[in-house]
Amino acid sequence: MEKIDIKSLSPEELQQEMERIGEKKFRAAQLYEWMHVKLARDFTEMTNLSLSLREKCGERFDLTALEPVRVQESRTDGTKKFLFALSDGNLVESVWMKYRHGNSVCISSQVGCRMGCRFCASTLGGLVRNLSAGEMLDQIYSVTRYTGERVSNVVVMGIGEPLDNGENLLKFIRMLTDEEGLHMSRRNITVSTCGLVPEIRKLAEENLQITLALSLHGVTDEKRRELMPVAEKYSIAELMDACGYYFEKTGRRITFEYALAGGVNDADEDAEGLIRLAKRLHAHVNLIPVNPVKERRYVSSGKETVRMFQKKLEEAGVNATLRREMGRDIDGACGQLRRNFK
Ligand code: SAH
Repeated sequence: MEKIDIKSLSPEELQQEMERIGEKKFRAAQLYEWMHVKLARDFTEMTNLSLSLREKCGERFDLTALEPVRVQESRTDGTKKFLFALSDGNLVESVWMKYRHGNSVCISSQVGCRMGCRFCASTLGGLVRNLSAGEMLDQIYSVTRYTGERVSNVVVMGIGEPLDNGENLLKFIRMLTDEEGLHMSRRNITVSTCGLVPEIRKLAEENLQITLALSLHGVTDEKRRELMPVAEKYSIAELMDACGYYFEKTGRRITFEYALAGGVNDADEDAEGLIRLAKRLHAHVNLIPVNPVKERRYVSSGKETVRMFQKKLEEAGVNATLRREMGRDIDGACGQLRRNFK
């Protein structure tokens, strides 16, 4: 019999499981606290449970615990990049960043990705599989255990397309914000998508109060198609409608992510198009100089171009931040750590 992934069970599901094996309800609360508050990696750590219950759990459940197989630490800004092995040997990455306002972790949502963005390393080998809610949570738990510091912000911007794994993503968010777990604020969670229109609408319906970041990268359909195959499926007009719906339903402003690629999307007309779209949605813009990936032909816009581009947006009244390039000394672009690990 295949074992049940216990870290992905909600408090209610865990209660049902305990009842099923003839245990009292409060055992579920104890187990949940061990996994999601005390961040136990193994049933043997759960010392207020009887040995027989711990053994019973070991037989019936699988307790996922990600192993850091490599941790790279920046000497300049304290950023740490983790490469984790999942229980089946697949690898994912997470990044820990220290900001003045708290610690932030960037997590992966899938092993690989099938979206095919042409500047991105994560998609080069296609999609291997989805991550479970427990595996998404455990990236945060492992990083917390490793650093000994509380995580206050979570961004789902690592490997994978989170809205291509929507069900597990929703469960992950619910468990992360549950008062029986880490009880993180929904406002401190950001989910980034390449722009899956029906899923954005579905997420809006959930009214979760999380921040939605849209990877825009191009302001005309033609340019966006050049960079992102998903743009063949959904037009910018449809995307803007879906983002407008998200804003309307949740009251949360959308963030546009815009990777600046030299000579590709960094001209005056691109800035003007971006201003138009951002103003319509009251969106915040996050500019990212493209991280060159060796299998890809894109290079970053020059420093001066990036500065001028940002200035233009700001002068037009659009709130635009430049993603701080953290951990440059340990970085490859997103997804490169996994790819380069042999
Ligand atoms: N699939 C989701 C989240 C993962 S990617 C999405 O597309 O939004 C997180 C962000 O990094 C996205 O905005 C993505 O477009 C961007 N990105 C990927 N590769 C990059 C690269 N080489 N340089 C700069 N940004 C990159």
